[in-house]
Amino acid sequence: MIQIACPSATRVLILSAMGFFAGVTAVRAQADSLDDHKLTEIYSPVPPVVTPGAQAGDAPSDAVVLFDGKNLDKWVMVSDGSAAKWIVDNGVMTVNKKVGNIQTKESFSNYQLHIEYRIPANITGSDQARGNSGIFLASTGKGDDGYELQVLDNYNNKTYVNGQVGSIYKQAVPLANACRKPGEWQTYDIIWTAPVFHTDGSLASPAKVTVLHNGVLVENDFELKGQTRYRGKPYYKAHGPSPIKLQAHGDPSEPISYRNIWIRPL
Ligand code: MG
Repeated sequence: MIQIACPSATRVLILSAMGFFAGVTAVRAQADSLDDHKLTEIYSPVPPVVTPGAQAGDAPSDAVVLFDGKNLDKWVMVSDGSAAKWIVDNGVMTVNKKVGNIQTKESFSNYQLHIEYRIPANITGSDQARGNSGIFLASTGKGDDGYELQVLDNYNNKTYVNGQVGSIYKQAVPLANACRKPGEWQTYDIIWTAPVFHTDGSLASPAKVTVLHNGVLVENDFELKGQTRYRGKPYYKAHGPSPIKLQAHGDPSEPISYRNIWIRPL
């Protein structure tokens, strides 16, 4: 420590001057740091290289392909876990209403999902009975247990708006109706954040979903209130990683088809 032997007034002056120069130095250091662009640049870790698909909608290099048009090897019947019995023909799978819902063998938590569907050109029916299916973003049990993103023909078909295509069934009205005509292939691109539960089963953080329908944003980081239900209010029930389920809806209209399904766990 430096001992300063001088009258107190002088000491005050010296200390003030030291303080002044220290202040100037600090300001200059701050200015220098603002000038140094490297201080705000991050160089590691480097994001992994993912080769995008050749065309929009094609699976990128790190995707898990759930259906490539050849077979249903990645899918099982929800009812009993046996081999999925929907119809695969000419590169597409078509709902088999007689046998019921199918789901992935593998379970997932957070993910990016791409899926394409086609309402038959000769679709008949109205309201909820016109090309009804659905994508359960996490299947939590038999039947329709889980969180359903609605699939329905609403090109020229009215129904309750929280049950039309692009809705999180009876929870979130889509931000737009981006339907293509029956007979045309349509896309869903979905970002799903799974709900998190405490060890006692209570909810720690809700599920969230963002959905693009035919490239149009229809759900924007929507926070789910619980599992989607036909009757009654939604509620959460604790679960872990879950399969993705496709709905064989019981309406009498012509069955719809799916193709090009892939997922990127996040
Ligand atoms: Mg449905």
